[in-house]
Amino acid sequence: MKTISLVLLSLGLLLTGTAADDKSNPHASGVPAAWAEKVTDIAELPVERYDWGTVQWLANRKLMPGSEQTMGLATILPGKQNAAHYHPNCEEILYVLSGEGLQHYDDRVMALKAGMTIRIPAKVKHSLANTGREPLRALVSFSSGDRKTVWLSSPGLK
Ligand SMILES: [Zn+2]
Repeated sequence: MKTISLVLLSLGLLLTGTAADDKSNPHASGVPAAWAEKVTDIAELPVERYDWGTVQWLANRKLMPGSEQTMGLATILPGKQNAAHYHPNCEEILYVLSGEGLQHYDDRVMALKAGMTIRIPAKVKHSLANTGREPLRALVSFSSGDRKTVWLSSPGLK
């Protein structure tokens, strides 16, 4: 019995110690190994760099096997525009988190600003130009865990 109490006491101290460490470092991974394919932490995800901005994939079939959706965070730099492209196998929904821009959608153009959402069906060619002074940040989601992209000009990968 004494041994069990001691073990529990040690475990308690260990857990307290871990919690204190987490508090002192807000960027420490909050994803336990058992959740590795169900939870991601943006602080640990790779950044795809383009000459027009960046994309970070938050969820897709590669990060989360079995996923039937893709989600990412895209940033377009002021005065820049991502390369025109379309997705043959999924629709895209884009929500503007901050900034403003012009969404090219087939042969039409729609002004977007923070708070607006646009749905782009599969096969519709599109690109987004940042017309503001600050980076345009958008949450993008796709109806497939394995999003395909056909670039109509160089994607501008850095
Ligand atoms: Zn797209």
